[in-house]
Amino acid sequence: MSDYDFIIIGGGAAAFAAATKASDLGVKTAIVNDGLPIGGTCVNVGCLPSKHLLAVGDELFYPPRSRFEALKDGHAPAFDFRAAIEEKRRLVAALRESNYLDVLGSLSAVDYIEGRARFISRDSVEVNGRTLTAEKFLIATGTRPSILPFAGIGGVEYLTNREAMELEELPESMIVVGAGPIGLELGQMFLHFGTRVTVLEKVPQILPRIEPEVADELQRVLEEEGMEIHCACEIQRVWQEGKTRFLEADVMGEVRTFQADQLLLATGVLPNTVDLGLEKAGVRVDGRGFIEVDEFMETSSPGIYAAGDVVGKMFLETLAAKEGSVATANAFEGAGQTIDYDSIPAAVFTNPQVATVGLTEEEEMRRFNACACRTVEVARIPKAKAIKETRGLIKMVIHPENSKVLGVHIVAPYAADLIHEATLAVKFGLTVDDIIDTVHVFPTLSEGIKLAAQAFTRDISVMSCCIG
Ligand SMILES: Cc1cc2nc3c(=O)[nH]c(=O)nc-3n(C[C@H](O)[C@H](O)[C@H](O)COP(=O)(O)OP(=O)(O)OC[C@H]3O[C@@H](n4cnc5c(N)ncnc54)[C@H](O)[C@@H]3O)c2cc1C
Repeated sequence: MSDYDFIIIGGGAAAFAAATKASDLGVKTAIVNDGLPIGGTCVNVGCLPSKHLLAVGDELFYPPRSRFEALKDGHAPAFDFRAAIEEKRRLVAALRESNYLDVLGSLSAVDYIEGRARFISRDSVEVNGRTLTAEKFLIATGTRPSILPFAGIGGVEYLTNREAMELEELPESMIVVGAGPIGLELGQMFLHFGTRVTVLEKVPQILPRIEPEVADELQRVLEEEGMEIHCACEIQRVWQEGKTRFLEADVMGEVRTFQADQLLLATGVLPNTVDLGLEKAGVRVDGRGFIEVDEFMETSSPGIYAAGDVVGKMFLETLAAKEGSVATANAFEGAGQTIDYDSIPAAVFTNPQVATVGLTEEEEMRRFNACACRTVEVARIPKAKAIKETRGLIKMVIHPENSKVLGVHIVAPYAADLIHEATLAVKFGLTVDDIIDTVHVFPTLSEGIKLAAQAFTRDISVMSCCIG
């Protein structure tokens, strides 16, 4: 008989969702976690600390730059960078306690084991020198920052997201390599703290996987705030002299040298799969090392499932949890559950925020060889005019024949909140008429989604408020 019904390797979002489901089903389970503390990436070095520090940065940066004439002489509050890091540490510790440690206590039949797990066969892992056996497994080991092998990188002290939010001193200047969600969030956070920030991106647009109009508008806003951004950069070498970091790059055909107090690398992630003994368990990985799963989250080895960042689909806390829960339901209930990845929303918590769900214009063209899209500027939304918050746009992509909403892409204040109406539309196949027919609260930024729907049937530039 096995030691456990279910061993979960990893202790982040995917693992906790799986353990919660397993506990509901009365499955005898062990979570084995090592590396990051309990809770994994999100609570310790990801979503929560970054969103906290971004909010601190906003409160520091925007008051002296008020949109309102009546507040023109606003001044910045006094800023203590070390105190911000300290407060962040306390918050992380408290959330780790309430969202993970306390939760563990409430999960019956779930053991938590600290230690590195490694498969020694299909049915067993080695942890702290002990062999543990189980009927079924979930691999939820997440990812770590990927450090690209730039020439000279071995001789340079660099930061990843993990160290950047633990600095003792606020740098005067920082080079950020990578204009994905993490590079831009951390870049704007430091910009708002007062650091001179230069962002370098390899491909021709920031947020490479996002709808280009949205990315361009965000770039415009970030540059207006003082961020220096260079896209289409080929980094040639990096080096350090004293405390100064240097970077040489080909920027659209011109070789340029950049220098700063700190170098932050935000160039993607690598899966935590190398030392897992996957070959002993018959678990296949793809060319980048991410675990291959079928639509039921099961790996190439029957009874071994995988979920979260380690399967490399979209790097999101909510999706990791969903996958963990679906995998467990499939493993122990034969539920046959699958996930519709087209209706998973994602956000970038810059200011303004970016949020997106479903197909982009380019993806629609690929699937249907036709496109039906409308873009509405945030400046057209009555609420935006009232509060003078007019940065951004909303782009809607609909089915070329039946008008069902297939994708919505937003750059706007509170975009991460606004995206949920669009998510329901995409998930449940609502048409633009369903959205237009739905009365929205006036005045709200959410009316922007309705305006985007209306733009398919009317000239919204000559439309009174609240027209259905
Ligand atoms: C800076 C930053 C900001 C982010 N912001 C957001 C956001 O705002 N919203 C959002 O949805 N997502 C955000 N994310 C992404 C989100 O944090 C991840 O998608 C999510 O945490 C992944 O969860 P997971 O369970 O797959 O992996 P993880 O949380 O990484 O957990 C994996 C755990 O397994 C451990 N482990 C690895 N190997 C072994 C082994 N052999 N044995 C035992 N344990 C092992 C790891 O150390 C870790 O503790 C952000 C990420 C970063 C880095």
